[in-house]
Amino acid sequence: MQYDSELLLIHEDCRAGCFHCPYSKKKPSQPKSVNTLIEMSVLSKARMILLSGGEPLEYPFLLPLVTALEQVGKPFRIATGGHINIMPFLEILQNNRLFTGFSVGTDVMAIRRNNNEEFKMQWIENLRILSEWGCPYSLTITVGSGMQLEPLLKLFHYHKLDPNFLMLSGMEGEIFDDEEWNGFLQNIQNIYPFKIIKVGFRECKKV
Ligand code: SF4
Repeated sequence: MQYDSELLLIHEDCRAGCFHCPYSKKKPSQPKSVNTLIEMSVLSKARMILLSGGEPLEYPFLLPLVTALEQVGKPFRIATGGHINIMPFLEILQNNRLFTGFSVGTDVMAIRRNNNEEFKMQWIENLRILSEWGCPYSLTITVGSGMQLEPLLKLFHYHKLDPNFLMLSGMEGEIFDDEEWNGFLQNIQNIYPFKIIKVGFRECKKV
């Protein structure tokens, strides 16, 4: 069976420092080599690789890695928290025929998860750049403590964000009943009635 995509954790650090996130609290780790990551990608049965972290744009060998992914013929997306200037990466990525877009997280925009104003401004600027360059992107919303969905959706609306799709996930360790979960989906649909809303991680009630 071939999966649509497989998440590959390429970098375990992230300097965004979101209060809830384990990757912001870890001691700096040794980056994996490009060769190791390419071997893992080639072995993957998934059609596409999602380069994730921590923050992949902080991985020191990202550009050699994406070049190698193109050489081995593996399509990929890049997940980012959105707090790193995307511009220096964009030209190279746009010329990479197997780059399918960014999955942009929204944690840095949640005031109770991150209070760094510079990161928030960079996030908005990155989304503006992605639109201007016509670069495909999706938005990932991780609901749970510290995430207020309505102000976030108002912000999307205000900035006329036009993602290819949205992803709704739940924070690890937090359980939502169906009514609550469907309420989140409904709120998103109210703003984006014609977009696909994918469901990511959702913790299940232990029986
Ligand atoms: S941007 Fe994402 S990976 Fe980075 S600290 Fe925040 S939640 Fe964690």
